[in-house]
Amino acid sequence: MRNDRMLEEFIELVSIDAVSGQELEIAKRLTAKLEELGFTVTMDKAGEVFSGNCGNLTAIREGELDGALFLSSHMDRMPNGFGIKPVEKDGVLCSDGTTILAADDISGVCTILEGVRRAIASGKPLPRLEILFSVQEETNFGSKAADYSVFQAKMGYVFDAAGPTGQFINGAPGGYDLDVYITGKAAHAGSAPEKGINAAKVLCDIVSSLPQGRIDAETTANYPILSTGTTARNVICDQAHIAGEARSRDPKKLADYIERFKTTCQDIAQRHGAGVELKIVEEYPAFLVEEDHPLLTMAKQVCGRLAIPFTVIAGGGAMDANIYTGKGIPCVGVATGYTKNHTREEQMVLADFFKAGALCEALIEDFAESLKK
Ligand SMILES: [Zn+2]
Repeated sequence: MRNDRMLEEFIELVSIDAVSGQELEIAKRLTAKLEELGFTVTMDKAGEVFSGNCGNLTAIREGELDGALFLSSHMDRMPNGFGIKPVEKDGVLCSDGTTILAADDISGVCTILEGVRRAIASGKPLPRLEILFSVQEETNFGSKAADYSVFQAKMGYVFDAAGPTGQFINGAPGGYDLDVYITGKAAHAGSAPEKGINAAKVLCDIVSSLPQGRIDAETTANYPILSTGTTARNVICDQAHIAGEARSRDPKKLADYIERFKTTCQDIAQRHGAGVELKIVEEYPAFLVEEDHPLLTMAKQVCGRLAIPFTVIAGGGAMDANIYTGKGIPCVGVATGYTKNHTREEQMVLADFFKAGALCEALIEDFAESLKK
């Protein structure tokens, strides 16, 4: 069924430019919409933390029932998202070909607004609703800087995934940024090479010893950035740097890999008598929500009721659900009908988009029902 309110709101919101780090204008518009629906809206310090002009928006609406549901999508979009002019053709919405459509993730924002609006209009008793509209999801995961102490929810839905409505993302890899700083010793390469410690050689040994590429079905690693601090060819290299990353859907395998990374770098450096400093930064934790978790049993039930085909897949890239699950609010991703996001060919099946609004409402309703039991 067509939903002109959703379509109009989508066009209204994609018309506001909101590249990562510059979400303030859209945040203001969303604040007004949420306040109209009875939410108390606050902005956190994520903008300052990640050098943007806007923080994450947290919107809370107390309910009649004892229990809270968390809903999220992100306000930012890819750089090629200025001056979007949506075009509708045969039930599909796309851009005019010069920009992205920004259905990633404005469709998610509209889905939550619609779902909440309908749930409130139904007049039925509702749970406490906790909405987080995040910033810089595409770049820094601004959601990392949110204040999680304000949330009571034990689970949530993140409307931020490509694919047909009814598709849920129950896991995504965790990832680390890995840096190796090697210190050797400079010496004249012709007259006294034995007095030097060659950091470039240590770098090569480490890179050739570390497992990389596809390590197993769930784990990958990559070391694409290699550099030395030496520019003269007659000096033994004394500084070298390796920058790479590792990811896995399995937290245990990822932890094992990081251990191996550490010992490999330290052993090889020691063998050469070189110094080594490692920087190991978790960019996002892996998440996995089992299929018998209430998030998914409820989703399956709701999809059955709305006659929407229900599927669960593991995602390949990190999303806000990684961050939220890591912070103690297990979440799954929810598709809202778009494909080819991040490209000028991005498109959205309108029937799916409209269904997502009904799906969000039904998820809130079923969650409310579950609290009465
Ligand atoms: Zn997204």
